[in-house]
Amino acid sequence: DQKRKHRGSIGVFSEALHKEIKIEQRLCERLRSAIDKGELAVHYQPIIDVSTNALSSVEALLRWTCDNEKIPPTVFIPLAERSGLMPEIGAWVLNRALIDLSHWQLNQELAISLNVSVAQLLDDSFFKSLDNVLLSTKVSPERLHLEVTESVFAIDKNVVSRRVSDLVKRNVKISIDDFGTGYSSLSRLQSIPFDFIKIDRSFVQNSSEESDTIIRATLLMAKEFGCKTIAEGIETDEQRQHLARLGTDYLQGFYFAKPMNAHDFISWYNENY
Ligand code: C2E
Ligand code: MG
Ligand code: MG
Ligand code: MG
Repeated sequence: DQKRKHRGSIGVFSEALHKEIKIEQRLCERLRSAIDKGELAVHYQPIIDVSTNALSSVEALLRWTCDNEKIPPTVFIPLAERSGLMPEIGAWVLNRALIDLSHWQLNQELAISLNVSVAQLLDDSFFKSLDNVLLSTKVSPERLHLEVTESVFAIDKNVVSRRVSDLVKRNVKISIDDFGTGYSSLSRLQSIPFDFIKIDRSFVQNSSEESDTIIRATLLMAKEFGCKTIAEGIETDEQRQHLARLGTDYLQGFYFAKPMNAHDFISWYNENY
């Protein structure tokens, strides 16, 4: 009797799993054609210099509208990685963002920050796209900041250092994203010459003594490493003042602006600067 019950639950389970796989495959096919169908867009979110209130950089964030439905990046980015579509999509974002930046007549120092997944970092074609787009847009490489998460520490140390030194050679800047949420060991952290540490919004939004302790420790460490710091997820004026007082160099969040399409970003810029 027990056995039969067990077998029955496996039947239900595999049916559910089968359904899930079907949904994933359908979404994956749609994502595969999203570039050609013009369904992808890059939005831009301002990053503000605390000491001057100037716009320092913008983070490029990918958007996908599939049949009038907005699919969140937290859904389709992992899907793109699982299905091997990330190099192609990543190259598209890189091109779009640098072409946009090169067209803007705002501030010749304005930098652009791009999220780079581990799959991209390990892919030779990423470096080819990087060289091509820097050459064709004539954007100076210091204006390109590449954000990686602590997941880079899960890959082989030698492989990472080779890839990172390939980036350093090109003079692009490197940021560590969502800092404090992953599994970096301090020794691995030291092995990568980060230019920026982005303090995850969970610490910014959780107003507790514990979060403040972590933020202070991160700021101290960044100083020792010679990195600048960016606090993510600033939603209120109180958070803005608090993180500025703690000594963060740059701030980003809905308080300043949500990610905007290129057109809205230009309007936002003209209104604010
Ligand atoms: P992320 O790189 O940490 O990006 C910041 C996320 O926080 C964005 O979510 C942004 O919209 C959101 N955010 C910004 N300010 C605030 C705030 O004040 N409050 C709150 N609650 N959220 C805020 P988004 O655009 O949904 O992107 C989610 C994640 O998807 C990104 O996290 C990044 O890991 C990934 N992603 C997005 N675009 C790309 C891309 O082009 N390539 C890769 N590899 N990953 C991307
Ligand atoms: Mg990011
Ligand atoms: Mg982040
Ligand atoms: Mg994040």
